[in-house]
Amino acid sequence: CGIVGVLGNHEAAPLLVEALKRLEYRGYDSAGIATVNGGKLDRRRAVGKLVNLSDLLVHQPLAGKSGIGHTRWATHGAATVTNAHPHKAGPVAVVHNGIIENFRALRAELAEAGYAQESQTDTETVALLAQRFMDEGLSPIHAARDTIARLEGAFALCFLFAGEDDLMIAARKGSPLAIGHGTGEMFVGSDAIALAPMTDRITYLEEGDWAVLTRKGAEIFDSLDRRANRAETRIQIEA
Ligand code: GLU
Repeated sequence: CGIVGVLGNHEAAPLLVEALKRLEYRGYDSAGIATVNGGKLDRRRAVGKLVNLSDLLVHQPLAGKSGIGHTRWATHGAATVTNAHPHKAGPVAVVHNGIIENFRALRAELAEAGYAQESQTDTETVALLAQRFMDEGLSPIHAARDTIARLEGAFALCFLFAGEDDLMIAARKGSPLAIGHGTGEMFVGSDAIALAPMTDRITYLEEGDWAVLTRKGAEIFDSLDRRANRAETRIQIEA
């Protein structure tokens, strides 16, 4: 339901939780974050209010300056920890808004190839597909690109990878997604409101766009993988 992403110069976990709080108005049943720290990809997830996630993070902190976060409004699979985002498959973590319409076919194809799902969600299928492409030798960027190309439905996605402290992939198809520009920092949010404490410099992805983010900036591609120029705007939202 809500997506946030941070490639920052400070600890990501508090920023992610703060950004997710700004999306609470949309409603949600569970929440989670994942970070990359020294190359290691790890996550924390909790059912219920964000305070449950915050409490968990007090007892099991998550270090790292790169991370993604999510508030979930379940469409496929009950509101359980296992079904909460971020979903993780090998070196890939994914947060997702919306619905992957063809996930059953993809899930069957992946199961056939030995990639079994542990959750009931359409989202874990996305993570597993990207993992499979990486196992086949693709780079994280190409694995994400090929994964996005196989997905049908209306969705917004953000990918984070083990071993990549300076990389996020974002994609938008039928569900809004904004990129936030900082100074040597980059952000992603399903709503620019989430990013207001961090930046007012926003680029909205257009339908079918996907983007490669590093701390240096964002390279945006359209649905035909052509480089796309999307305007940066300044938004006025109270931080
Ligand atoms: N379809 C996904 C799920 O059920 C994402 C739902 C959402 O937008 O929060 O986990």
